[in-house]
This record gives sequence, C-alpha cells and structure tokens, in this order.
Amino acid sequence: THFGYQDVPLSSKVDLVRGVFSSVASSYDVMNDAMSVGVHRLWKDHFVAELNPRGGIKCLDVAGGTGDIGLRLLDHAREKHSDRQTQVTLLDINPSMLRAGQRRLAKTMYWNTDQLRFALGNAEDLRLHLDSPPPKSPLSAFAASPNKPKLPPLEHLEIEDESVDLYTIAFGIRNCTHIDKVLKEAHRVLKPGGVFACLEFGKVNVPGLSDLYRAYSHAVLPSLGAVLASDRASYQYLVESIERFPTQPDFARMVAQAGFHLPGSPQAERWGLPAYPEQRSWDGDESVNGAWEDLSFGIATIWKGMKL
Ligand code: SAM
Repeated sequence: THFGYQDVPLSSKVDLVRGVFSSVASSYDVMNDAMSVGVHRLWKDHFVAELNPRGGIKCLDVAGGTGDIGLRLLDHAREKHSDRQTQVTLLDINPSMLRAGQRRLAKTMYWNTDQLRFALGNAEDLRLHLDSPPPKSPLSAFAASPNKPKLPPLEHLEIEDESVDLYTIAFGIRNCTHIDKVLKEAHRVLKPGGVFACLEFGKVNVPGLSDLYRAYSHAVLPSLGAVLASDRASYQYLVESIERFPTQPDFARMVAQAGFHLPGSPQAERWGLPAYPEQRSWDGDESVNGAWEDLSFGIATIWKGMKL
C-alpha cells in the first residue's frame, strides 16, 4: 500500500492508535501552517491566481489531499469571473485524505453540484482502479453525529484521454515513485491547449540562504513533527524527500521530455503561457530559461507546461 502524504508508510499500528482518520488529516493542516509559518497559503493563492481558472473549464487536481487547491480554483472562478461552470475533480491515492477533503468541502456551496467530484486514484496511472477502503462497521453509525453530512462513497473515475483543461498537482509529485509516469499521464489526460501546473518544493539557490534553509529543515522540521504530530520520523523523511527532488532546471527538462511546451517556448508563448523572464537556469541550459517561477527564494517553485 502507498500512503503518500507522509512519504513513509504509516504502520498499521500507528493507524490503529490514531483511529480517527480526520485527526490525522487535521494534523497535516496544522503542520503545513507550522512548518511554513502559514506561507504555504500565500503560495497556493498565488499559484491559483496566476492560473486564473475561468470559462467553465475542467480541472483535475491530482494529489488533491484535503482540497486546498481545488477549493481555491472554484473560489477564484466564482469570485473573479462569476463562473459557476468550472469543474474540479479532486483526485488522491489516500482515502483518508480524500475523506477529510469531502468533510471540508461539504460545508461549501460547491457540495452536491456538478462543480465538484472526488476520485480515488493514482497519479501514475489515472485509469487504475484502486481497492476501496473497507466499509465502516455498522456500530460506527452510532458515533456519527446527526449534523454531520453524509459522505458519498469514494468513486473510481477513469480519467479519459484529452478530457482536462487544467491539471494541477501541489506538493504531491514529490511523493510519487515514478515522476515520469505522472507527467506522461498528465500529458495523456490534457486536451490540446491544456495546461500542466505543478507547485512543489524547489531548491533555494541564493548564496548564504541555502545553508540557512538547510539548517532550518534539518534542525527544526523534525522537531516540529515530533511536538505537533508526535511523528518525528515522517517529518525527517519529508526533509529528505524535498532534498531528493530534482532541481528547478532538471524538473523543467522532465516536463519538456513528457511532451509539454515550457513557458517561454515560442509555441507556449503564442498560446498564452509566457516565460518568467527573471528566471535564468543556473546550470547553463538556456532552453529552460524562464520555464519556472520561484516563490520565497525557491523554497517552493511553480513549473508549467502546455500540451499542444
Ligand atoms: N495538494 C494538497 C495540498 O497542497 O495541500 C495536498 C498535498 S499532500 C502534501 C500530498 C498528497 O499526495 C497526499 O494527500 C497523498 O495522499 C497524495 N499522493 C501521494 N502519492 C500519490 C499518488 N501516487 N497519486 C495520487 N495522490 C498521491
């Protein structure tokens, strides 16, 4: 089984001890805020504002987790463009994360509308049907409070070829084993003209600051994990997964290799995906100049690609 979010499989014992899935998911949200001092919200706001979803498009938010990106996409379309046609499918491999997302989105106006769907699925194969989580014991009905919304069963959607206008993946691709497969699937499901957009931890490439960031991640993050989530090992692993992830130019090349046109390439520019002129590649490969956008000195980075 792949548990994704925490990067390392939770042992079944930990699962049992924690019992209620929602408490796990809510500690993630708390941890996100604590680790980034809330800045992850600004990164996500910026990511979505720049994508500017509108015009009744079909969005697929892969590794959507508790819905941070999906909700922002729908809110942006509605608030900035009075668009109530744009649709979001929130896809995640982890049923408990998806459940937490459902519980959260059940409180919004998008609940029970065509605008919102949830799907269990694997970013590496968006046609795959995963095993459903076991049904809850009938006794758990007694624990459910009457004002809790009834959640629909988690669906398995086969995401079809060329069916998506906007593919987003935020802080999710790092957890996947085969990044090339994820990119290939993104390319398959996007319509021509569709955009792939990835928000992920990057590398800080500012002299002096990189060392400071390294020290912070190694000294502070695992301890925060220990104190706030009673889980030092997972947060230790998080730091390692961030360091293992490709550099900005390396990942940009992977996006291009999957068949996408990078921001700044003549074709992408022509169809509305301009370069980020301030970003020069530091490894001398000019073909990826302007292909990504660093946020907070590269602690997070946005990469995009267009399928044409
Ligand atoms: N996108 C959300 C956000 O930005 O808040 C959630 C990010 S969370 C750090 C990573 C998510 O990736 C988890 O919900 C995890 O279950 C999911 N995930 C990990 N591997 C996956 C895979 N192969 N396919 C789909 N989702 C995956």
